[in-house]
Amino acid sequence: LSLSLNGSIYRNTTIHHSAKHTSFIHLTTLHLPSLSSPNQIAMALQQGENRVVVNVNMMKLEKLLCMKGGQGESSYANNSKAQALHARSVVHILEETLDLVHLQPPPPPHHHQSAVFQVVDLGCSSGNNTVDTVEAIIKHMIKRYRAAGLDLPEFAAFFSDLPSNDFNTLFQLLPSDGGGVAGVEYYSAGVAGSFYKRLFPARSIDFFHSAFSLHWLSQVPERVMDKRQSAYNRGRVFIHGAKEATVAAYKQQFQADLGAFLRARSVEMKIGGTMFVVCLGRTSPDPTDQGGAGLLFGTHFQDAWNHLVQQVGRALAISCRSVAGVLVDAHIGEELSEQLFLRVEERATCHAKELLENLQFFHVVASLSLA
Ligand code: SAH
Repeated sequence: LSLSLNGSIYRNTTIHHSAKHTSFIHLTTLHLPSLSSPNQIAMALQQGENRVVVNVNMMKLEKLLCMKGGQGESSYANNSKAQALHARSVVHILEETLDLVHLQPPPPPHHHQSAVFQVVDLGCSSGNNTVDTVEAIIKHMIKRYRAAGLDLPEFAAFFSDLPSNDFNTLFQLLPSDGGGVAGVEYYSAGVAGSFYKRLFPARSIDFFHSAFSLHWLSQVPERVMDKRQSAYNRGRVFIHGAKEATVAAYKQQFQADLGAFLRARSVEMKIGGTMFVVCLGRTSPDPTDQGGAGLLFGTHFQDAWNHLVQQVGRALAISCRSVAGVLVDAHIGEELSEQLFLRVEERATCHAKELLENLQFFHVVASLSLA
């Protein structure tokens, strides 16, 4: 597969891929149907506390998305061994791509400057994977410079991700004084921003690396969230099993995003630079068959949500009893009242989604004074 981008540096880029088809995650905004005020009410009722639920629909995805930070049990740093293993298994392809980078001869002495090799990891997240990868890249380049008998350039590594990424944890994993690669220190910096836009000055980067990140779209295509459109995905957060128009909307978004990504990199890359990209794929030619990922991020996710919605329905029924129970008991007796509220609960559980979508309380607030 070769990518052609206006006859630019990508013309002869080879993309190695084990899966046949690019997959993309669109679970990027949890546009779940009921993240609205009834849900907040129900949650508050259930938990006896005031909670604020952010309406994700209203927020820009790029302000929100990140892997779980810190180093706790469910952090990305502690749950990315599979990605690390994969990175090790394709290191030979990474090295082949690094072998194509042009080595820079040292600038003439009167220039008073040294050559700098600049490497970027796009979608670095926080954890050891990005540090290990960047250091493997620098190590390989040191080897190449030494083998060519050239003076080493200085090395600069940019760790780039969306602004909500946990850069603090990442910075703590970087080698402190005296650390480095093969005895060579490197400068490092975090760069916050979306890789679908320009992140670096023109012609400044020798090598771009990006693993397991490009399948995140810049946004959920608007058409899939619009009830009036044929691409409407009926409130679902996944493409697994979706209809053709929905798939087409995601595909269009993916193509627009990938185009923007490549355009930005083609400006930022030095002539003679290269790029190595790994993204999630699928084995089926059918985009609505996302395999195991479709089950985990799609079907099971949705089922779990439906279950949660049902529980909220139950909590609403209980709160209804707490308000009306005493009166109902007085009218029909405790035994019948018990039966009645059991049925209210059953119904609220079955129709929880509808109930949550339609239930709204209106308050009249009056401020009175006596003149
Ligand atoms: N490369 C790491 C982490 C992959 S997790 C590894 O191989 O282990 C995917 C990362 O992509 C996340 O940190 C997420 O925040 C980032 N990401 C998703 N969309 C992005 C965008 N538009 N711009 C920059 N980073 C993005």
